[in-house]
Amino acid sequence: MSETSTDAALRERAARVIPGGMYGHLNAAIFGEGYPQFFVRGEGCRQWDADGREYVDLMCSWGPIILGHRHPAVEAAAAAQQAAGDCLNGPGPIMVELAELLVDMIPSADWAMFSKNGTDATTQALMVARAATGRTKVLVAHGAYHGADPWCTPSLAGTTPSERADLIEYTYNDLASAEAAAASADGDVAAIIATPFKHDSFEDQELADPAFARGLRALCDRIGAALVIDDVRAGWRIDLRGTWEPLGVRPDLTAWSKAMANGYAIAAVTGVDALRGPAQMLYSTGSFWFSATAMAAAKATLETLREIDGPALMERAGTRLREGLAAQAAAHGFQINQTGPVQIPWLSFAGDSTLEMATHWSVACLAEGVYLHPWHNWFLSAAHTDADIDRALQGTDAAFAKLRARFG
Ligand code: PMP
Repeated sequence: MSETSTDAALRERAARVIPGGMYGHLNAAIFGEGYPQFFVRGEGCRQWDADGREYVDLMCSWGPIILGHRHPAVEAAAAAQQAAGDCLNGPGPIMVELAELLVDMIPSADWAMFSKNGTDATTQALMVARAATGRTKVLVAHGAYHGADPWCTPSLAGTTPSERADLIEYTYNDLASAEAAAASADGDVAAIIATPFKHDSFEDQELADPAFARGLRALCDRIGAALVIDDVRAGWRIDLRGTWEPLGVRPDLTAWSKAMANGYAIAAVTGVDALRGPAQMLYSTGSFWFSATAMAAAKATLETLREIDGPALMERAGTRLREGLAAQAAAHGFQINQTGPVQIPWLSFAGDSTLEMATHWSVACLAEGVYLHPWHNWFLSAAHTDADIDRALQGTDAAFAKLRARFG
């Protein structure tokens, strides 16, 4: 990024009025030299940065964009609701319609509660589990991301040990470790929370072993704890009924957000009938949780995903990308690992424990007009056509060539 770029000028101004110039998961300073911080436009599967550079978008704003930026049906539904009123003295009828849609789509959902961010939903799900059981402890997989509140943020800055005192860690895909964690709690387990596959940053992803998923379900049933699936990241891309539905494992509670409204701010917890009463006991709310525009956008997004079979489209695009990358890496003599579902992929280089190669390659992709990430999983959308994937593959091929010139 040249010093005279708009992005550089904005960063300089930001550094004066925003702590660190930027914070959180979209802080480009921690991705690698060359990542733009500021963006001005999105359309379909393309984004433009503040300097006007166009990218094939393989991050989808870290998940929320699932139908492509500015999808007409979603924008029309949101605009109509916005014109009528967004933040009113009570929710609109759309809240009931959206809850009905979720209950219809998701076999483990008998009810839905809404909020804004994934962290709201994971936190609310654990509150429901605690209200239901009267217990305190929650089993959490080591290294899993469930949000940025004090109980779950990966950085300990600004948190106290007491805010995490009720978490007991287990190892993802290791049922024995979950059994041991439960046994150590002396009957005081309110919930086990799990992501539907292991998608921790900085490492290869791992699909859930079906025996592990079934084992967690059985363990929860045995000890009377709630099984909470954090489908915030994976939700709606793999299976519209819930990411563990193909495994035949139904959670008691599910946290949803990210892609639910194609970029509009909304989150939900869905749950089974037995937890309706405890859910009703919570005082859990927010000034903007009932805004109608995001709910209208969510209904349009989910209906469109169902109509077009969004997961199948993303699977097709993701498969084309994965096969293309595999062929390119082999042709350039690199050993790579491609992990996770094809709709939520990630690529690492064998032996690249410092992620130096991944970072160089990702930055080279940027220069070729392809936006992906060196250490966080990527996201496909239903807007990625074969031609878009082929355009992305042109860029990744040039980036492999640059990487070969550098690393031999
Ligand atoms: N859970 C998972 C699995 C996530 O990926 C995220 C967001 N990356 C969250 C929870 C938190 O969501 P939010 O950032 O919207 O609070």
